[in-house]
Amino acid sequence: MAENQDYRMMSPDFSAADSDVELSLRPKTLDEYIGQEKVKENLKIYMDAAIGRSEPLDHVLLYGPPGLGKTTLAGIIANQMGVQIRITSGPAIEKPGDLAALLTNLNDGDVLFIDEIHRLSRSVEEVLYPAMEDSAIDIIIGKGPSARSIRLDLKRFTLVGATTRAGQLTAPLRDRFGVVLRLELYTPYELAQIVKRNAGILGIAIDEDGALEIASRSRGTPRIANRLLKRTRDFAQVVGSGTITEQDARLALARMEIDELGLDNIDRLLLTTMINNYNGGPVGLETIAAAIGEEAVTIEDVYEPYLMQIGFLGRTPRGRVVTNAGYDHLGIARKGQQNLY
Ligand code: ADP
Repeated sequence: MAENQDYRMMSPDFSAADSDVELSLRPKTLDEYIGQEKVKENLKIYMDAAIGRSEPLDHVLLYGPPGLGKTTLAGIIANQMGVQIRITSGPAIEKPGDLAALLTNLNDGDVLFIDEIHRLSRSVEEVLYPAMEDSAIDIIIGKGPSARSIRLDLKRFTLVGATTRAGQLTAPLRDRFGVVLRLELYTPYELAQIVKRNAGILGIAIDEDGALEIASRSRGTPRIANRLLKRTRDFAQVVGSGTITEQDARLALARMEIDELGLDNIDRLLLTTMINNYNGGPVGLETIAAAIGEEAVTIEDVYEPYLMQIGFLGRTPRGRVVTNAGYDHLGIARKGQQNLY
């Protein structure tokens, strides 16, 4: 179904189809990592200082919408600190014993990357506290009244946690991160640089305007830019000159029903539903979710950040509203009174 296909296309979440290129496209050093200037500047200072003291980097929490480069940054940290990285995720660590096994296998200074760290269970999370604070874990031996706890020392390590929702982290966990960095959506100019770099790695010819066209429709998200680059290449190869030009990019993206601002069917459905059924809002998130058949968290994590960044959606204490710019983009006239947004 076209709608499903577009949905996957513009989803910033990792999908199996991304795996073939993501590894080769991941920058290995901070210098190759485009954009996020503030994050890079701070991280560089913290890493240089830690290296100067011959210590591992303090624990780092990275947060921001999916597909912005959190895993990539964790890899860069390990690479520049000259250590190994172990990659796992919150839902993959089921029992405290799973985490204990991971931790005891780390070498001195290693990076443990936990994606979706807000999804760790409480009992697993409790193993992390002493590990992060004292490089030790407490293991319970035996059962019932004869059970006793022994403390096991670990090598020093750096935990890099990634989450789309920092607000869902428990306070004790959040407080144990010495470095907290927030990743922002990328500008079209930064994304165009990423598109050109990645086209070079993948051996795809693309001109400046072609790169900017793809970039401006990628919702501020490198993962989406990479995906659109790959699909656009197919169009340029079959119906174009082989070099991706602005015209090829426009044609390919129109075929994929992605408009000039990167909105897909679901974005348009969300906005038009708010307009047609709720007079543009204010309307609650749960109500919108039910009306369009999406989960509220997906709307909050995936659709809203970009719609808010481009100024089509606003948040008010009484719910979400479609802005005048949103109405204009969809070519729908506002009914009744002009609203304030
Ligand atoms: P996240 O972990 O936040 O979901 P990833 O680190 O997996 O995102 O990034 C997704 C893809 O986007 C990577 O394959 C990488 O090629 C690309 N990417 C992300 N950030 C950058 C960047 N700053 N510069 C270049 N490429 C990037």
